[in-house]
Amino acid sequence: MSGNPAVVMRLVASAYTVAEKAGAIVRKVLHSGELGIVEKTGANDLQTLADRLAQQSICASLSKRFPKITIIGEEELPAEEVTEDLIENGQAEEILQKSCPAEYSGLKEEELVVWVDPLDGTKEYTEGLLDNVTVLIGVAYGGKPIAGIINQPFYNYQLGAGASLGRTIWGMPGLGAFGFQLQEVPGDRRIVTTTRSHSNKVVTDCVAAMEPHEVVKVGGAGNKVIQLVEGRATAYVFASPGCKKWDTCAAEAILHAVGGKLTDMRGNPYHYDANVKHMNSAGVLATLRNHEYYVSRVPQSVLQALKSD
Ligand code: AMP
Ligand code: MG
Ligand code: MG
Repeated sequence: MSGNPAVVMRLVASAYTVAEKAGAIVRKVLHSGELGIVEKTGANDLQTLADRLAQQSICASLSKRFPKITIIGEEELPAEEVTEDLIENGQAEEILQKSCPAEYSGLKEEELVVWVDPLDGTKEYTEGLLDNVTVLIGVAYGGKPIAGIINQPFYNYQLGAGASLGRTIWGMPGLGAFGFQLQEVPGDRRIVTTTRSHSNKVVTDCVAAMEPHEVVKVGGAGNKVIQLVEGRATAYVFASPGCKKWDTCAAEAILHAVGGKLTDMRGNPYHYDANVKHMNSAGVLATLRNHEYYVSRVPQSVLQALKSD
């Protein structure tokens, strides 16, 4: 790689270390025992001190280094000075060493939009289902996800004391995906992963219509996409408007990098420009393979219940 990496590679290299710092904050708040839980729209829509501090850390660190980039974070926080201990200045050297895909090499800061979910799976975090939790940083250009970073702060936590906790997965379409071993579900079993804490009849009707051999209910949009790329599920099916752009941008970029897809329930793509509405109103359908099968199985009644995006 040249001595002057492309802006987008510098951004991804920073976002990688920033996501690791955010993951460390998420662990630290849990260990402090003081989660500082606030209900946003209701009991299933929570914010904790970890969501707040992780977002402050991510947004302040990235905007310090990339002041012209639009950064959109999930949490509405009062504009206040972020303390110096939350700022991360590092960059992942191995990312800077990679060649930027030619189509992205000339992109400018002001053309990039970063979608931040500082803690995805907050409900599960408060319930101790720690491997469901991820930190999501997605990068979009021209409305399309072009890079994604997922930190899983409690990866390996079941192994107990002594295990090295946490990992970071990242990917860019045209470059590849790193930090995990790509695997597919063996044979032709359909394993559908869906929400465990935001279900309703439309959601369950849609899952049933896929005729799954197995249903895996786990928390977090990031975590469910990890299920897809590590061969534990064949489709992520969520026929609800509950997921937002910050839930899907990073995950979609990583899925694209390995040949997967993420769309609404009609099979239409979402757009990630700075001015789009945040809600993924027409649901989320993500797969590594055979996307068309799952689109074709979505019942009319489900489509009628969901608005178009
Ligand atoms: P889940 O699959 O339930 O973990 O949801 C994936 C992401 O979408 C998480 O960030 C949730 O907070 C969000 N989400 C899904 N449904 C809702 C809802 N009804 N209200 C608020 N957030 C939701
Ligand atoms: Mg989320
Ligand atoms: Mg969140």
